[in-house]
Amino acid sequence: TEFNTLGLSAQLVARVAAEGYETPTPIQAKAIPLVLEGRDVMGLAQTGTGKTAAFGLPIIDMLLANGGKPASKTVKTLILAPTRELVNQIAENLRIFARKTPLKVNIVVGGASINRQQQQLAGGTDILVATPGRLLDLLDRRALNLSAVRYLVLDEADQMLDLGFIHDLKKISSLVPDERQTMLFSATMPKSIAELSKRFLTNPERVEV
Ligand code: AMP
Repeated sequence: TEFNTLGLSAQLVARVAAEGYETPTPIQAKAIPLVLEGRDVMGLAQTGTGKTAAFGLPIIDMLLANGGKPASKTVKTLILAPTRELVNQIAENLRIFARKTPLKVNIVVGGASINRQQQQLAGGTDILVATPGRLLDLLDRRALNLSAVRYLVLDEADQMLDLGFIHDLKKISSLVPDERQTMLFSATMPKSIAELSKRFLTNPERVEV
């Protein structure tokens, strides 16, 4: 499989080639066409398998195709991850993929200035990468609203549950529109993840690597 057979735009295929990605990883080859078709995806994959590009590339292409700047304080794509380190890593990758596009990638994590994050959110966000706790703090401050979320990603969902984020995730799920596309990634598939996927995903396609 080659990147140019997955349905991505020529612009993004060129961007990925410029980063030295020669061939898609298995999770990318399987998930990218499904995400571009609009399907919800439940991905069983470890870290280091290329998950970030698997959800990030098709989301970036769909955001570019649908155009339009996000309105003040709104968010088009919400990516939740368990730790600051992972949030930073995801955002760094997505900014590289989205280079030379108008897409705005913001991050929201604990341990950094909440006022500064609030200011960044004021302008509207195409892709927000967040840990659940700080996201709820900013929602309490009315620094953003989730009513325009079109794409939702739960990354390392099993780790988020292990860290006790289940109530935060339920709260957040009540604030995003029902009409959205959701991708959930987990390294393991315990019963708790099956239940979470039932709550968050609609008719998901399961992808395993
Ligand atoms: P991830 O699992 O998304 O954290 O990706 C792990 C590492 O693999 C990151 O450093 C990516 O930049 C890199 N990577 C992801 N996809 C590919 C690919 N198709 N070809 C080469 N490197 C990749």
